Amino acid sequence: MTSPRIALVTGAARGIGAAVAERLAADGLAVAVADLDERACAEVAARIASAGGRALAVPIDVSDESSVARGVAHVAERLGPPTVLVNNAGVLRDNLLFRMTNDDWSTVMDVHLRGSFLMSRAAQGHMTKAGFGRIVNLSSTSALGNRGQANYAAAKAGLQGFTKTLAIELGKFGVTTNAIAPGFIATDMTRTTAERMGVSFEELVEHGVKDIPAGRVGTPADIAAVASFLAREDAGFVNGQVIYVAGGPKD
Ligand code: NAD
Repeated sequence: MTSPRIALVTGAARGIGAAVAERLAADGLAVAVADLDERACAEVAARIASAGGRALAVPIDVSDESSVARGVAHVAERLGPPTVLVNNAGVLRDNLLFRMTNDDWSTVMDVHLRGSFLMSRAAQGHMTKAGFGRIVNLSSTSALGNRGQANYAAAKAGLQGFTKTLAIELGKFGVTTNAIAPGFIATDMTRTTAERMGVSFEELVEHGVKDIPAGRVGTPADIAAVASFLAREDAGFVNGQVIYVAGGPKD
């Protein structure tokens, strides 16, 4: 039997990241569940183990270079060299431009853009050495512009350029890089948005669904299914793409 591929999913303690980690484990990969909160990671890792999968909880702050170096080395030592990386960790600091602070701007850039850069740079050596790799970055429909999200929209659009550039640089080593751009997905992140807007989550969903041709909001499993496809060995000719998973056309 060949040994399983090793995946590392950031922001995997909850929401989309947890669903991706559980889906990749169900696909037969060993999965490093990485997040700021080690205890929450351990819960996801335990769920994977009880479903018969192999997982390791690992604390990583993706915006911190030494934490990234430590975390990736720990995964390589305990599970094996990570050749599938899902850059999913994310935060919101929404505000209209005139109210947006320097901190709102930098925090979002540090987690989404710097975080994906640090993680990809730290993991790519394992991938090129193996002659196989899959990097999946989480963009968003907000990359096309969204009120109150100048920071987040810029970061998510930046991730699309980052994705295409890694695809060009790493393609010849058997490493693909693609982005998933979700629309409205029901998670703690969108619950926070409802709170900020002073509406209930149900009201936000009801309002959001009006613009979604599929007639419903998305679930973390909708995103995990696409990540699962992009991580497959036979998806090796899909490279540098941004796949909108939004219940309708967006780009
Ligand atoms: P979430 O807020 O539920 O989960 C995000 C996770 O990232 C949390 O567990 C958090 O602890 C972790 N995280 C934050 N900062 C981190 C850091 N510095 N290092 C490591 N982990 C960190 O969010 P979600 O809705 O599951 O979103 C996941 C990704 O999908 C994000 O990149 C988000 O921008 C993107 N996305 C979400 C939606 C949506 O509608 N929910 C839409 C488009 C894109």
